[in-house]
Amino acid sequence: MIAHMTRPANVLDFQVRRHLAMLVTGIQSADDDTALRLARTEIDRLAAGVIAGLRSHHLDRSGTCVLCGTYCRLRVAVSDVLLPTDQERSSP
Ligand SMILES: [Zn+2]
Repeated sequence: MIAHMTRPANVLDFQVRRHLAMLVTGIQSADDDTALRLARTEIDRLAAGVIAGLRSHHLDRSGTCVLCGTYCRLRVAVSDVLLPTDQERSSP
């Protein structure tokens, strides 16, 4: 992880976005066995990435984001992407 600290933010941003794009493409286009293996390999890393992002927006004792205040922009964005919509929740 320390090696990443020497790379400029724009380089890391490009590398992360490229990795995610390759992951999505790989899982969507690979045969089922390969896609399953890739998904199982990467899910822990993806979850760790989200948690690492949330860590920088940690909550104080009252549940308020130390960077954003009451409505944490990062948590709203992550929730919008990850949590099922009301329509998805009501589907059988
Ligand atoms: Zn925040």
